[in-house]
Amino acid sequence: MEQVDKGLMEKLVNGDIADDDVTEMRRMEKKDHERFWTYLEVLQGAAKWDEKILMRLNDHLYIVAKGKERIVKCDCGHELGDYRVNWKLSCNIRVRETQQQMDEVYYPSAASPDAEWMELREYFCPGCVAQLAVEVVPPGYPMIFEALPDLDRFYREYMNRPLNDESADWFEDKTAEFVSKLK
Ligand SMILES: [Zn+2]
Repeated sequence: MEQVDKGLMEKLVNGDIADDDVTEMRRMEKKDHERFWTYLEVLQGAAKWDEKILMRLNDHLYIVAKGKERIVKCDCGHELGDYRVNWKLSCNIRVRETQQQMDEVYYPSAASPDAEWMELREYFCPGCVAQLAVEVVPPGYPMIFEALPDLDRFYREYMNRPLNDESADWFEDKTAEFVSKLK
């Protein structure tokens, strides 16, 4: 296999790719450079909205270009704000604090985190209620900002197709600034 075509990429994204194809893809000497563009094309084709996808963050979330902004958007269409701000701040959050609450989602319960010193946070999309992330941390620990990709650098240096709105401040964590403005 020289290149992953769109049909194969669709199967890969939908999770119904054949085992033989997976094996063959793994054996490819080097990932073909076109694969990212094919991947974006497949994701864009499946999206229910028109904003251009710049990067996928997880099963439900995408960084998209919207006007002059780059925002995080759920596949349901719900928007979670500037991608430089931790999107978890825009979620509905459930915190499991007691051992009983933790044991409800761990099996066997011996695998549960210890409620004496950990809590479990679940993040849900306010639009479609999909679970977007889970983190197990000590109480008071800051929300984990899972990824702040350097999009300009990625598109320019790795994909040789720079974005047309490059700017130095795209690669800046704006979470603290956002929180300081909350009332
Ligand atoms: Zn959603």
